[in-house]
Amino acid sequence: MRQETKCIQAGYNPGNGDPRMIPIIQSTTFKYDTSEDMGKLFDLEASGYFYSRLQNPTSDYVAAKICALEGGSAAMLTSSGQAANFFAVFNLAQAGDHVISSASIYGGTYNLFNVTMRKMGIDFTFVDPDCSEEELNEAFKPNTKCVFGETIANPALTVFDFEKFSKAAHDHGVPLIVDNTFATPVNCRPFEWGTDIVTHSTTKYMDGHDATVGGCIVDSGKFDWMAHKEKFPGLCTPDESYHGITYAEKFGQEGAYITKATAQLMRDFGAVQSPVNAYLLNLGLESLAVRMKRHCENALKLAEFLEANDKVSWVEYPGLPSNKYYERAKKYMPEGTCGVISFGVKGGRKAAEEFMKHLKVAIIATHVADAHSCVLHPASSTHRQLSDEELVAAGVAPDLVRFSCGIENIEDIIEDVSKALESI
Ligand SMILES: *Cc1c(COP(=O)(O)O)cnc(C)c1O
Repeated sequence: MRQETKCIQAGYNPGNGDPRMIPIIQSTTFKYDTSEDMGKLFDLEASGYFYSRLQNPTSDYVAAKICALEGGSAAMLTSSGQAANFFAVFNLAQAGDHVISSASIYGGTYNLFNVTMRKMGIDFTFVDPDCSEEELNEAFKPNTKCVFGETIANPALTVFDFEKFSKAAHDHGVPLIVDNTFATPVNCRPFEWGTDIVTHSTTKYMDGHDATVGGCIVDSGKFDWMAHKEKFPGLCTPDESYHGITYAEKFGQEGAYITKATAQLMRDFGAVQSPVNAYLLNLGLESLAVRMKRHCENALKLAEFLEANDKVSWVEYPGLPSNKYYERAKKYMPEGTCGVISFGVKGGRKAAEEFMKHLKVAIIATHVADAHSCVLHPASSTHRQLSDEELVAAGVAPDLVRFSCGIENIEDIIEDVSKALESI
């Protein structure tokens, strides 16, 4: 099946007389005839459901669809994108370990790594995503357990150099994890470029309608854990909390990582996606391919309009030929990138605030990547406490406007932006 078909059909195959739509199994628990039957599940000797804090059939159908879209071997849903990135890294690294991350990532992930996970004893090195191979190789330490990046960084719109990062990770015997939220598997399949594990905030384009917060982790099944046994004791030595099973032996290269994340992290942290949220996410996934095409068409037209407007000082959009990442984006995402654009308004912070006040179609919201056009001025919202000098140091220009192009009629979006620019 091709991506458009997988969006509709993958993950759930109804049998004779079964519901056409993924059923919402709104049940905490599942019934068994004997204690022995249930005991086998607790020992991971049989597969099946026993408690929705670990696994639920509705969520698993939806995870299977995202797994098929990414071309992976196993996947799990989480309660949010934050939970997905936390689990993805914490499934491999523990206190005393080290992780390398691109410095150009979502602010929430940066804080998770740099503040909260440091408190858990995990050390991080943040590298410039456009660093040389040499600089990247120098960041590795004997206790490095994985490398992390974002396909298209939110909000910097940096396009990730998959081959450079995957080569360095593999040369050092560790997997590459990539957050593919902004591109989605419709526009980019990181596994085709050497990535080992993919994460998503399904809150963005996958849900696509401002309806549900959620996340997902997908394993490519390609990383050979047993070949680097000494680095990954959690996967390659017996787990005493499951009667001494060794994940990489019992579930193989294709199942070990997600089984461990479910059996240990979901069991202990419980960051599950509810069956109803998973059902809503699936509705979003069914139209993902159609929507992504429209988001990209609209964003390119708006970016071209902005580039030609004399009230605009600069425009960043990887789909624009003038963009620094245009060639790289064409290579990894030939069909389009995403619907998010950032640009500067002449007149700085004040002009940017004035511009946004006059928008009618695009609403002001701390959100991106969904059907409704929305806009954010970081200097007066998320980064409000910083001075102009501090903003520049943080990579957020005082005049930066982040515009998330929805799937409305592009003429309405352009008229809206045009009138608001005129009123400055
Ligand atoms: C929003 C976002 C997250 C966090 O996801 P939540 O669902 O809000 O927890 C992670 N990564 C990227 C790229 C995001 O845009």
